[in-house]
Amino acid sequence: MTNCIAQLQARGVAVAQDVPLSGKTSFKIGGLAEWMLFPATVEELQLCVRLCAQAEVRPFLLGNGSNLLVKDSGLDGVVIATEKLQDLRAAGDGRILCEAGVKLAELCVFAQKQGLAGLEFAYGIPGSAGGAVFMNAGAYGGEMQDVLTAAAYVDAQGELRTLASPALGLGYRRSAFMANGGLVASLTVQLTPGDPAEIRARMEEIMRRRKEKQPLEFPSAGSVFKRPEGQFAGALIEKCGLKGQQIGGAQVSEKHAGFIINRGGAKAADVRALIAVIQTVVQNQTGVLLEPEILFV
Ligand SMILES: Cc1cc2nc3c(=O)[nH]c(=O)nc-3n(C[C@H](O)[C@H](O)[C@H](O)COP(=O)(O)OP(=O)(O)OC[C@H]3O[C@@H](n4cnc5c(N)ncnc54)[C@H](O)[C@@H]3O)c2cc1C
Repeated sequence: MTNCIAQLQARGVAVAQDVPLSGKTSFKIGGLAEWMLFPATVEELQLCVRLCAQAEVRPFLLGNGSNLLVKDSGLDGVVIATEKLQDLRAAGDGRILCEAGVKLAELCVFAQKQGLAGLEFAYGIPGSAGGAVFMNAGAYGGEMQDVLTAAAYVDAQGELRTLASPALGLGYRRSAFMANGGLVASLTVQLTPGDPAEIRARMEEIMRRRKEKQPLEFPSAGSVFKRPEGQFAGALIEKCGLKGQQIGGAQVSEKHAGFIINRGGAKAADVRALIAVIQTVVQNQTGVLLEPEILFV
């Protein structure tokens, strides 16, 4: 392992040790990452994967940390962060090419300034572009699936490969990368020409609705549960009288029962315990088993 880290450092890849993941996740929860790698190019990402494979270490890929509950004891081994993969450019004919670490908000604003419509739904989803592909993030009637045409990814051996739609396997909060373990390096979205002012107005309206409904003033990981068929998780949780329920620093938001918020000093164990209570009560009272949307690492 130390040999792998030394080789990466010698090749100019940024490396950090014992990084608090509470500072890298929207929940503000999580112990230390033993090693964290910050590839700044796709070639560096490939090198990280290759050397980890040689050292028989399976790295965890961190996007913007907005859909994660990281355990209090942290992560041993290697975390690869995409935050330095920031290339973002127009690729002609309504297409935009973007590296995985670009924040969705930045991608949306870039598209708006180019007079390209179709990504408004994503404005306000606090993930990276790569994380949005992995999760097929969506909101307000849109999802990545609607605009994504292709993604380049690094496979477990460090080879760069490309998948084009429909092989991306996008569905409700799922993608082919969940099964193939590929690390999304970059993506292409296909948008349609539109008036920048009108696109901006739609983005702002979506942000206004988010601020009105969601507890954005507290750390969280967004909706904790997937939407059960024909229902809303938040409405079921509220119906069961669980709004405001608290374990340690974790609380079911009073503003939106589908969110668990960190009221200060919440531990991953608090959130897990609260999730278990919600699942039990909701299943007992309504017969619906809520399935987490957030990922546990
Ligand atoms: C306030 C708030 C509101 C939210 N609203 C929404 C919403 O409306 N709709 C919605 O869909 N989600 C929403 N989310 C959840 C979250 O923003 C999305 O799931 C987002 O797509 C996660 O991206 P990320 O970069 O933060 O991924 P992370 O949380 O860093 O990682 C999530 C998973 O994706 C994997 N991953 C990340 N990057 C890559 C990559 N480049 N290649 C391969 N795998 C990768 C990680 O390994 C991990 O398994 C919200 C979250 C918050 C905090």
